[in-house]
Amino acid sequence: MTQATQTQTTTGLAPTFTHLVSKEGGVKYPLKALHVCEETFSPLEVAYDYDAIRAQVSRETIEAGPNSIWRYKAFLPVNSENPIDVGTGMTPLVKSTRLARRLGLKNLYIKNDAVNMPTLSFKDRVVSVALTRARELGFTTVSCASTGNLANSTAAIAAHAGLDCCVFIPSDLEAGKVLGTLIYNPTVMAVKGNYDQVNRLCCEVGNTYGWGFVNINLRPYYSEGSKTLGFEVAEQLGWKLPDHVVAPLASGSLYTKIYKGFQEFVKTGLVEDKAVRFSGAQAEGCSPIASAFKEGRDFVTPVKPNTIAKSIAIGNPADGYYALDIARKTNGNIESVTDAEIVEGIKLLAETEGIFTETAGGTTVAVLKKLVEAGKIDTDETTVVYITGNGLKTQEAVQEYIGQPLTIEPKLDSFERALERSRTLDRLDWQQVLV
Ligand SMILES: *Cc1c(COP(=O)(O)O)cnc(C)c1O
Repeated sequence: MTQATQTQTTTGLAPTFTHLVSKEGGVKYPLKALHVCEETFSPLEVAYDYDAIRAQVSRETIEAGPNSIWRYKAFLPVNSENPIDVGTGMTPLVKSTRLARRLGLKNLYIKNDAVNMPTLSFKDRVVSVALTRARELGFTTVSCASTGNLANSTAAIAAHAGLDCCVFIPSDLEAGKVLGTLIYNPTVMAVKGNYDQVNRLCCEVGNTYGWGFVNINLRPYYSEGSKTLGFEVAEQLGWKLPDHVVAPLASGSLYTKIYKGFQEFVKTGLVEDKAVRFSGAQAEGCSPIASAFKEGRDFVTPVKPNTIAKSIAIGNPADGYYALDIARKTNGNIESVTDAEIVEGIKLLAETEGIFTETAGGTTVAVLKKLVEAGKIDTDETTVVYITGNGLKTQEAVQEYIGQPLTIEPKLDSFERALERSRTLDRLDWQQVLV
């Protein structure tokens, strides 16, 4: 707990977040479990008193804060003195050498949320915020419509907080995502349909059951958690903004909130203003935002997803319009890559940096490579690529492309024969080696 938050609670200073506001038209709403404006039908967003934040925080108070997303509590929509802190956030920002060299970049950084806590994806950030707020609003059952990682995070963090939990997933998810949810013993509904159908069902359930759906009725609070991916990068770069970021797009929320995070750090005087270019990554089998970008449209046409990158397979992205706007006004790009390129992206990151990411990260690395090759990222730009999930959860995606171990007898000559053979073979042929 930081000094600033203690002061805030003991002196009863007004919280830093003040109301909800519609993204179009600025209609104000109270700080309840609401997510759509009844007048404009646009999404609701949390509004803050930036003077109050500026008075509470400095680089020093943040640095003295917890080693988690809660060091930025003044920028997050929670009142609790003890937010749910399972060590989420403050993941490594790795200065790349070998991937950078391979791509011909001079200043490449990898924000590694493949090792985020507790469930190894960036979703732990948004869920830590959403469930803290859910508890404040009096919800006892929490839920979500998930492409996989969100189910893992919601189930784990709900277990930690002692909240009842029921999650909804598409029935064709990777085994690791399903097991990684069931282990926390929530109720899991595997819906025979794609994510967009799961989401529609959840909207109906939410209206009827009064549960706290982290990414539906709690979405304004939930999505704020993604700002911490902007805050951390700025702090880890020595209180500076990068020149260019490359991030994956599912609903587009994460991407837009990194942008909001940077803006808020500028607004409160924590970093100097700078033009940051925002580039986004989608899988070709689900690329409604990339298509709109390339065709110069500012509306997103929904698609039916068909890609191995299931965690970012949202055919009807809620924040697509806002993501397009950011890409265009920051002189960025939104690009898509094939499933084969995604697998190559996963392998490239693993072989050059020792980071095993899931399909979403493979998508982002492959798009980074594509943008560099097309001259759309300058070699000198300080570029941050966001790796948002862990490869152990999507093993199916790479299983066929990594070869096999060499099985040998526990004898030196068996080892030596195998070593000899391995030098003459591509590793993919190893499975054919019988020693
Ligand atoms: C959910 C998810 C994203 C992107 O989410 P948005 O809906 O765009 O905020 C990116 N990567 C992974 C691994 C995810 O699970």
